[in-house]
Amino acid sequence: MPDFTTFSSLLRITTKYEMPAVRSQLFEAVRDAYPETFEGLVPSKQLGERVFSGPTPHPNEVLNLFVQQKLTSALPMAYYMAAQRGLDSLMDGRLPASARLSPEILHVALRGLMTLREAELNETHHLIFGSKASHHCSTPSCPSRTPTGPATLEAFQKVFDHIVGSSSQLGTKVLQVPEFYEDCGGDLQCVGPGICGNCVERWESGRAGLRKKIWVTLPDVFGLKG
Ligand SMILES: [Zn+2]
Repeated sequence: MPDFTTFSSLLRITTKYEMPAVRSQLFEAVRDAYPETFEGLVPSKQLGERVFSGPTPHPNEVLNLFVQQKLTSALPMAYYMAAQRGLDSLMDGRLPASARLSPEILHVALRGLMTLREAELNETHHLIFGSKASHHCSTPSCPSRTPTGPATLEAFQKVFDHIVGSSSQLGTKVLQVPEFYEDCGGDLQCVGPGICGNCVERWESGRAGLRKKIWVTLPDVFGLKG
């Protein structure tokens, strides 16, 4: 994999001089990092801009290049990589010109980010605080057994805050696989005190479902359909 500067020069050359074979080779090289399908979205893989060797480019810069060069099938992921870092990153005026977004791209990215953030907050809230939370728990010591108690609400709130990040961050982690456990001195414990493994499993599978659901909507969310 070349560095980003080399990659973008090569890509521009292949477009200018109509070299479709080289162009598809270049495209092939980034396909894994900007997958087209949900199955391609493997968390352990190098996703997004980290795929380039040398200095990691800003995701805005990659997005600009992919839009200009019409790498259409990589665009949903390229938009997501730029948007997930939040408003400040999308609108950062200190970035070099190549990483500053045009008003059109910025508008699409911001609107997409707001949609994703809202879905992430609503669905995660519903998953953790929703009425289904308590119904399946059979662990006597688990706070989920008394879903309206103050200790439970506090434990749920800790999990929620941990999974969606603080409200000041204004990005999104909706396509990441969330960590419900933290290392407490060699012991893995749920980030919500006392929450049992069954409850965590239910939340994990709920978030896995959300990941898939959101992935399918990305082309729509970033105005790439129709
Ligand atoms: Zn439980």
